[in-house]
Amino acid sequence: MTPDLWLETHSYFRPLADLSAQVDRAAAGIDVLDARIPAWEDYRSDFFAGVPLLPSADAAVDLEPGGRMAGALLERLASGTSSGLLAAEIRVLDEELRRETWGSRRIADFLLGDETLRPPFPGLLRYLAWTATARFLRPVVNAFDGWRDEERWLRSYCPTCGSLPAMAQLVGTDPGRLRLLSCGCCGTRWRYRRIGCPFCKSADDHRLSALAIEGEKYLRIDYCQSCRAYLKTYNGEGSETFFLADWTSLHLDVIARDRGLKRLANSLYEL
Ligand SMILES: [Zn+2]
Ligand SMILES: [Zn+2]
Repeated sequence: MTPDLWLETHSYFRPLADLSAQVDRAAAGIDVLDARIPAWEDYRSDFFAGVPLLPSADAAVDLEPGGRMAGALLERLASGTSSGLLAAEIRVLDEELRRETWGSRRIADFLLGDETLRPPFPGLLRYLAWTATARFLRPVVNAFDGWRDEERWLRSYCPTCGSLPAMAQLVGTDPGRLRLLSCGCCGTRWRYRRIGCPFCKSADDHRLSALAIEGEKYLRIDYCQSCRAYLKTYNGEGSETFFLADWTSLHLDVIARDRGLKRLANSLYEL
């Protein structure tokens, strides 16, 4: 299944697809600033203790250039000719940035959970700033993927930025089938136990129930009988950036909500 084919049968996603493509195009046009690859040995003990990479003082990854790239992305989008509500919101954010109400350092801190920054349209800023920052972080995420011993993490939150997963993906074939969790913010994918709920505090290893979605061969909802949380799961391989993008399965969030399930997964899109 390719994105184009999928969009043909999901034409109601067209506006979101256009928006996402517009933002990706703008992001592709900004300069990628250099990210320093951490000295992994310095970070090892924090990793074993469950401290994600970006908040680790020992790993010392500076996210500020990512904040600068976010500013550049805002500027580029704001200078475009688009009209409409979203374009107006982007211009407001861009103006705030120019007035130096907050700068690149504050944006980086905001992405890591600093709640003292209260921008207008925080959801939009988070989406755009993570889009730019994920590009900045890509070499770090790739190097981290190569260094990380997945067996030593297996936690429910992202090993890079600490966010809860946006989605899951099943890869490989049985008996060696694996479940990966996917971060909607920084783009990291990491391994998690094949069964069990990533949102429950209980250590009880109960299975999640799977809810098949009519017309969706590769997307389903896994939910927990005990805490009622759900996790959207991509049951295929290929075009991961598209099928794990979260917005391409917003219809599953609607179905889950109608069934009284709770979204505990992280989202850059507000329903
Ligand atoms: Zn992450
Ligand atoms: Zn649960």
